[in-house]
Amino acid sequence: MLSRNLDDLYFSQSALVAYQNCPLKFRRRYLDGLFWPADWGGDADQRKAVELGNIFHLLAQRYFFRGEIGRGDSELVNNWFARLREFRPYNQSGRFLPEHELRLNEAGIRLVAKYDLLYITPRGKMIIYDWKTNTTLPKINYWRKHLQTIVYRYVLSKVGGVYSPQGVVHPDDVTMIYWNPRYPGVIEPLSYNYNEFLRDEAFLQDLISVIKDKDYEEFMATGDQKRCAYCEYCPICHGKRAVQLELGEEDMDFDLDWENIDEIQF
Ligand code: SF4
Repeated sequence: MLSRNLDDLYFSQSALVAYQNCPLKFRRRYLDGLFWPADWGGDADQRKAVELGNIFHLLAQRYFFRGEIGRGDSELVNNWFARLREFRPYNQSGRFLPEHELRLNEAGIRLVAKYDLLYITPRGKMIIYDWKTNTTLPKINYWRKHLQTIVYRYVLSKVGGVYSPQGVVHPDDVTMIYWNPRYPGVIEPLSYNYNEFLRDEAFLQDLISVIKDKDYEEFMATGDQKRCAYCEYCPICHGKRAVQLELGEEDMDFDLDWENIDEIQF
């Protein structure tokens, strides 16, 4: 298998999460290019949950693109969509950018963030919305420290100036909201500030440098076999299928509760 050049890779939050979970997983996916189709594993319930989440994201994208109110085949998803319109109604003031991708390429650091929705107010305040449809609802501190929050707020602060009436984004102007239509009343905005921006910058530069400095053979397997039990590469590493897979939207995490997963012996 031909391995790719890390200098060409735009690091997504998913890539960084994969590396933190298991460097070997990162290598298999991003250097060796071993991608599994989303429906390769998992059980029927899991595949159904992914499908419903994808339909919800599609309805949301169309709605925020130009206010189109579509319908899906599932009453559950249609209810979720109605809750979304109540929570964040489309309007003509401000700017809605659904499914919007931003890339940063600076001083050897390449990052990419794909936002479910960016909303820019007429005064240049920027709100990042991320839709989650998982049955579980992580605590806000989980999201506060999550690489998705770190990458999304940082990239927007660096390159989002083109959407600001002032031509520049101050971290104070950025807020991120994870919202789940199963829990419509839970709205916990994560604000941002310059000190957090500097902290995130140092962290991301450091993490990416560590990854890029590694030789191919140095991407080692995790010692945490609980992670292997939920990894698509389990058949290659351990000769058996995973118990369950993390599947989904370009790595829509299934937010497994690692503390409550039993130790698994291979
Ligand atoms: S099965 Fe385990 S060791 Fe292999 S890539 Fe996945 S997490 Fe890493």
